[in-house]
Amino acid sequence: MSGSLSEDLLSQRSQAIDVSGIRRVFQLGAQLKDPINLSIGQPDFPVPAPLKQAAIDAIAEDCNGYTLTAGDGPLLAATRSHLAGDLGWTFDGGTDLLITSGTSGALQLVYMSVMNEDSEAIVPDPYFVIYPNLAPMFGGRTVLCDTGDDLRMTAERVERVMTDKTRLVLVNTPANPTGVVLNQRELDDLYDLCTARGVLLVCDEIYDLFTFDDALEGGRFPSPARRGSDMLLIRGLGKNYGCTGWRLGYAAGPDWLIQSMAKLQQYTYVCAPSMAQRACVGAFDIDMSSTVKRFQKRRDMVMDALSDVTEVAPCGGAFYAWAKVPGHLGLSGTAFATKAVDHNVLVIPGGVFSERDTHFRISFACDEDRLRAGLDVLRTLLRG
Ligand code: PMP
Repeated sequence: MSGSLSEDLLSQRSQAIDVSGIRRVFQLGAQLKDPINLSIGQPDFPVPAPLKQAAIDAIAEDCNGYTLTAGDGPLLAATRSHLAGDLGWTFDGGTDLLITSGTSGALQLVYMSVMNEDSEAIVPDPYFVIYPNLAPMFGGRTVLCDTGDDLRMTAERVERVMTDKTRLVLVNTPANPTGVVLNQRELDDLYDLCTARGVLLVCDEIYDLFTFDDALEGGRFPSPARRGSDMLLIRGLGKNYGCTGWRLGYAAGPDWLIQSMAKLQQYTYVCAPSMAQRACVGAFDIDMSSTVKRFQKRRDMVMDALSDVTEVAPCGGAFYAWAKVPGHLGLSGTAFATKAVDHNVLVIPGGVFSERDTHFRISFACDEDRLRAGLDVLRTLLRG
């Protein structure tokens, strides 16, 4: 006999997580036959051929078992040398590195490592959808930091919501959903604020490679990790190399924290996928600049098409533009996105990423012809 169990069995933790906003977007999209889909949060380019081949070789050469919890030796070595070249970090004492199951894996492990039930974690609003849900899942309370009209998570704004319960500040640059890239001074200020208060700064830089020319400083991607290593740096390989399903990320920071995260990884994920770890040893040497340039041109297309009909956040990286629904339309972000669906275009309403449902997110991980067609529709709708 079945049906004797009920969903009363679901934990309060599970019931506290609401995915209805995202589900609504999927349901809207499912009604359409061949929508212009500007809602997708993953690259539309294939994995570079050398990485594909390396993955095939890894499987054929029997790299299919567990790796060490911290990560497979060759990928650890390649990542350390990448971070040494990029940030000047040395891994000869005090700082350590962990290969994780995607960037999400790293985020979960750091929450498990530092959050107690009465702790607070500050995350930006607008946020990547999992951010506000991490504390309900792994302990503590989320405190949103309103990033204001310019969408910048500055030290001043963070300090305003810090309390003696704050243990973690999570910042994301380039940001999902806004595309905003913080500058080096802003990131240094966040680093200094957090270290002075004894709070852990976590920087999610999953889109680091997808930073456009105008947001680079001295040709380099701004990062708080250039200030020092008293923080947790989280990066990933999924977005940069189009292999989101391979589930690879990494976290670098103080050794006591990395060791705690590794201990918890041992009892949860065990290790990141072994064939993917072996496949990505050469990833840092692959030149993605022509792909990044292509995305920069798409960013320009979005700005050119929409900036005279609405406010679009200055997008310095990632694959997203964050556009305001103009006041004269009298529509919420959700109402506007629903209207766009009626015209066969899928975008994500701002309410999915923010307490304020005033914007919508456009993903430009979409080929140029369809992007152009989608922008034409949005432009017409925004004019009203
Ligand atoms: N952080 C941000 C800002 C993201 O946009 C995403 C994916 N959309 C993630 C983390 C999760 O990435 P991963 O697939 O590596 O877990």
